[in-house]
Amino acid sequence: MKALVLYGKKDVRVTTDFPEPPLGPDSVKIAVSYCGLCGTDLHKYEGQSGSHPVTYPVPLGHEASGIVTEVGENVRDFQPGDRVTANPNWYCKSCYFCKNGQNHLCLHGRGVVKGFAEYICPPQENVHKLPDHLPLKYAALAEPLSCCIHGMDLLDLKMGQTVAVIGFGSIGAIFVQLCKLAGASNIIVIETQESKKELAASLGATLFLNPARTDVSEEIRAAGIPNVDRVIECVGLSATMESALEIAGRGAVVVLFGLGAPDSSFAFRQYDAFQKELVVKTSYINPDCTERAVALLASGGIELKPLISGVLTLEEMAEELVTRELFKKGKVLAEIAKEA
Ligand SMILES: [Zn+2]
Ligand SMILES: [Zn+2]
Repeated sequence: MKALVLYGKKDVRVTTDFPEPPLGPDSVKIAVSYCGLCGTDLHKYEGQSGSHPVTYPVPLGHEASGIVTEVGENVRDFQPGDRVTANPNWYCKSCYFCKNGQNHLCLHGRGVVKGFAEYICPPQENVHKLPDHLPLKYAALAEPLSCCIHGMDLLDLKMGQTVAVIGFGSIGAIFVQLCKLAGASNIIVIETQESKKELAASLGATLFLNPARTDVSEEIRAAGIPNVDRVIECVGLSATMESALEIAGRGAVVVLFGLGAPDSSFAFRQYDAFQKELVVKTSYINPDCTERAVALLASGGIELKPLISGVLTLEEMAEELVTRELFKKGKVLAEIAKEA
């Protein structure tokens, strides 16, 4: 089959003879329509791990939507022609964590969606049906949205609170909308690309601050905001993680959502955090959030069109992994088979 395959660090090629994944008795064969490019794909391209370790050669991509073409003999709930998306994270169901309601921390978890390819064959428990009115193009965003829903669960935002979103890429743009839906009073976007200001405002941001130009804390005070109650960091750099803790107000919850490089670290001022009694969390993948993500997409409650910066062929996607021109602007999708 045709696939965009990672053969090693910075070695990515489109091939037409990558072996199709085998259809097991409990799996569902899906002809991929769309698959999104994720920051973790770029990490893998750079030779680092994503959510799970990488074994070469492997097609990149895990944010896929498509149409069922065949099902294994034990599969009851899917049939050819079903429009679906798939959660890429498979859990063993028998380790300590799986048995304690923390399946995403599974000791034997692995990725079962390699979506920059013509076919994927995830186990049926990873496959989710889509309502007819939800375009497959948008359904490819169910995976990043499900990760953001987990981030929101951890953020524990209360109605009327003030939240700061650091970084306004496609993930930041999803969080702004989720925070608005969840009833935040002030949504402060902190982002250096000022061209994103208008979009941020249209999606729900009430204040847009460029840290390269202004003193963020000063501006927040000047806007009459009494406290930054919640902070969500969507960049993953040491500097932005440090500023997340700095911007956080008293009693704040900070979610470090952006994925840092494996060897990076940042300065943690315990005394400052102590004085504010900060709660600092990280957010890992998307435990049981895919159904909610699909439901939210289907509700039309999230604006997706302005988040998509490009729809590419696999060949173009190979280029994009190097240049990242469209990735910097938003979510980039590979179109493997156009929806009829
Ligand atoms: Zn992703
Ligand atoms: Zn497990």
